[in-house]
This record gives sequence, C-alpha cells and structure tokens, in this order.
Amino acid sequence: MDVKAEAQNNPESLIGKAYSFAENAHKGQRRASGEPYFEHSRKTANNLLEWGLDEESIAAGLLHDVVEDTDITIQEIREKFGPAVGFIVGGVTKLGKIKYRGAESQKENIKNLILASSEDIRVLLVKLSDRFHNMQTLRFLPEEKQKRIAIETYEIYAPLAYRLGMQKLSGELEDLAFPYINPEAYSWLMKDVKVRYDDRVKYLTRIKPIVIKALIDAGIKTSKIEFRAKRYSSLYKKLLRYDMDIEKIHDLVAFRIIVDTVADCYASLGVIHNLWPPLPGRIKDYIAVPKPNGYQSLHTVVIGVGGKPIEFQVRTARMHEEAENGIAAHWAYEEKKGSRDYIARKTSIAKEKEVEWVKRLRNWQAENESENLIDSMKIDFFKDRIFVVTPKGEVIDLPSGSTPIDFAYHIHSAIGDQCVGARVNGEIVPIDHELHSSDVVEVMTQRGKKPSASWLEFVKTAGAKNRIRKSLSGKPGLSFGVKPRRTEFRITAADRVGLIKDISDIISRSHVSIIGINSALDSRGHFHIVKIECGINDPDKVHKLMVKFKSIKEIREIEYKFI
Ligand code: MN
Repeated sequence: MDVKAEAQNNPESLIGKAYSFAENAHKGQRRASGEPYFEHSRKTANNLLEWGLDEESIAAGLLHDVVEDTDITIQEIREKFGPAVGFIVGGVTKLGKIKYRGAESQKENIKNLILASSEDIRVLLVKLSDRFHNMQTLRFLPEEKQKRIAIETYEIYAPLAYRLGMQKLSGELEDLAFPYINPEAYSWLMKDVKVRYDDRVKYLTRIKPIVIKALIDAGIKTSKIEFRAKRYSSLYKKLLRYDMDIEKIHDLVAFRIIVDTVADCYASLGVIHNLWPPLPGRIKDYIAVPKPNGYQSLHTVVIGVGGKPIEFQVRTARMHEEAENGIAAHWAYEEKKGSRDYIARKTSIAKEKEVEWVKRLRNWQAENESENLIDSMKIDFFKDRIFVVTPKGEVIDLPSGSTPIDFAYHIHSAIGDQCVGARVNGEIVPIDHELHSSDVVEVMTQRGKKPSASWLEFVKTAGAKNRIRKSLSGKPGLSFGVKPRRTEFRITAADRVGLIKDISDIISRSHVSIIGINSALDSRGHFHIVKIECGINDPDKVHKLMVKFKSIKEIREIEYKFI
C-alpha cells in the first residue's frame, strides 16, 4: 500500500485532500537532490503509513513542510484539515527551527522541548519520518550541513526513536548518521569488520541445524530463526568499550528465534542451555523485566562448538514486531481488531496508547540517562523508585507504592498532617491511591486536620510513618514543639530600586508580620536573593502570599519552608 494509491482511490478522504493540497502547494519547488519537493512529503507520509499510523498522521506527513516552505498558514491547515492535523503540522514546523550543534548543555533543553511538543506524540512520529527521509538524501547537502544534521540525528532523534521503542528506525538513523560523524571509523569498519561478519555468518549457518533439531525434539514450534548482524554504529560504540578488539564482541552476529508463546521462549532458552553452557552473567530476562522503552526478549550467550560464544535472542512474534516498530506496532495491533483499513481508525484509541509512551519518555527525562541508553543496570536501579512531579514541575523521588500521604510528608510534615486528599493528573484520588512515575501530584490540605492511625497501614516512606506516629502519640507538648510557627520565603529576583519595599508592602497588606529580612546578591551578581521570615504557619496563607508576590515582575523564583 502507498499514499499515492490511497489518495487516488479516495480523493475525498483526509489523505486524498492533503495529498493534492500539498502537491499543489509545493509545485515548482525542488529538493537539493533535484527531485520535486513533494517527493519528500510523499515519502515522509509513506513511512507513517507503513508504520501503521492513523490518517491524521499521514495527512500531517503530507502537509508537514507546507507552512515552512510555502505561503500557506497554519490557520488554513487547521481550517481545512482539522485541529489535530493543524497541531501536528504546527508542532513539526516548530521542531524544524531547532538546530543542535553538539553543545552538551543544549542537549537536555532540546529533548525537553521535543517532549513538550509531543503532547501529541504524533508530532514526534512525523518528525522522525521526516528526518529518516532527510538522512537518506543527506549526501546532496553541503558538507557542513551534513555534519550538523547527522550529529543532531545521532544524538537527539535516534535516542528519541529508541525510547519510543522504534529500535529499527533508531538503528537505521544511527547507521545513516555514522559515516558523516566518524568517516575514518566508518571506512575502517567497512574494511575490517566485513570479513568477520562473513566468518560469523558461516559459523552460525553450521550451528543452525543443531538448534532447529533440538527445538523440534523439544516440541517447540518456531516461526522464524534468523541471524541478526549488529549495526555498524552500535558495534563501534561497543568496540570503544572493548579496546577495539572485535574478538571480544559476542553478538557481532546473533541468533534470533521467534516463537509463538512466552512459555516457548523460556522453553527454548532451556533447550539452548542444554546444548551449550551459558556464559555466566549473560542471561537477560527482558520478558519479566522489559527495558524502559518496552523491549521484551530473552538474551543469552553460550559457549558453542569450538569454544566460540554465540548470542541468542528469543521472543514471541508480537514482541518482535514491537521491538522493531515500538509505538507504531502497538498502535497497529490495537487497530487491526475492529477496522478494515486505516482510514477507519479512530484517534481516540491512539490517544490512550500515547499516554503510556509519553510516560516512558518522561521517565527517561527523570532518569536523566547518559549516552549509554542500553545499559540495563539502570532498570534495576530504578525498579523500586518512582518519580512524581509537583505542580511547579519539580521531580520528587519516592519508593514505589507511595501514596499522596507519602508525597505530602515529603514536601513538609505540616502538609502531611493536614492532607485531606490529592489531585493526581488533575483527578481527585483517595489518600491511599498508589502513585506512578510522572504523575503530577497536588496535595489538598485542611487547616487543623490531624493524621489518622489508618494511614500507617498504607504509607511507604519511613518519614511519613515517623511523623504520623509522633502526631498520634497525642502528647500536646511534643507535637506543639514540632509544629512550625513561621515561614521563611526565599525569593530570587532581578535587581531594582524599591524591590524589597514592594515585597514587604505585599506582606503587611496581607496582615502578616515580618520577623526578619535579609537580602544578598547571588554568586554571579545578577539576582537578589531575599530571605524573609514571616509569622505564619498556614499553608493556605503561604500560597496566597506567593500568588501576590508573582505580581512583581522581577521575581523569578519563590521558595518557602516552615521553620
Ligand atoms: Mn521535511
């Protein structure tokens, strides 16, 4: 199937209309390769169709460069093709303005920005498809542009594709970028590694019948057994960690076994380990514990015939498709059930699917992972932690299973004591609700409220437990002594004459007493840091004051604590 045929068969469909509209808009424009510009739009849309995306994404793929490169405005797109297509095209157009040149300090900002635009994940999918075609035609661009775009692809877009679970695309983007980023390494690999690849394939071809026979004897039905050659770019990354010694790379070419069921995956692993002894520490169960991008598979390395290590990957057909196409496969699977063709697909389903993936992306941000995204140690490390977000965007690290009460006590003991409920992602939840990573949590408090003994049954953090017990112990003296009576505000503001007076005016107008003020310039001398101690201990009043402070435009940041 292809977009052109689709447009010809259904000229009045969203895709049909977008096709002729975009073709017309780009008329007369040419790419650096000399081909008509619209070819690029068509191929971008074609990838999206192949990935199994919905018609709005495909229409947006066709239209993605119309606003950037012609006189047509985003309003026109929105009116003609609806708000969703308008949003995607607008998002892709914005992303087109980003230029990453390899500055480490910029990298996080760019990824954040891309994630922010991925409020509709289809923005990112269209962008990835656009980038994929641009990489395939990169050779036609001037040299300095080639390098910049290749670096951006390698460091920003390939990792994003990986996190969307689109391993195939991610690998292809890296391989396309690699020769531009590291031409010497690339030619060395082409010269030296090619031979080794062929050797390995020959060796595995000899082993294959043994594996097939053993699996058949065990009664396991396999739908596919194939070799997977390691990609050049990821091989190079690995070589850097192994003294550039290719003999140490066990998965240069690996076996991939596709079976019907999860039970067969484990059974196959048993069969393989029965044939050859596994290398200690190299058995990875990504079925029980998937990688953060959703990847599922069993991996093992065994000492094969002649003492040579062989890597095996075992998974089900569905896991295989998800491993290759990630979010897109997920999407397609869901849709196939009800509808005959993608024209009939509903965006609402896509929206639900999206949430899970956006969460995964946000988790990635929270983890703040380094370049080595594949490092599986990280999963174990984060397995029992969650990262939740305050309404101000701070990330709070809690043990998994934590509840709004744990969160509230983490913010401040007085907020915990007075917690009566919480909003999680805008929805009101019970106080024993289990929080998940990337939840936005807002605590609701009631003045004078006391903690309940029943809280001890569900809270997870030691801090919350201690504090609840203390409050319950009912010794007024003790609890009185712990209770904060004052609030210290820490205000960061650009310097100006009269600033401190304005701040203190706001406080006195709110009938709050000021106990002390001190002010200092920050280390670089750009900002004033004003610390003010006030005679209030009521979170509500504190929040009201903070809102009033925000009317002073020089103020950049306000923090507070009860003391
Ligand atoms: Mn484009």
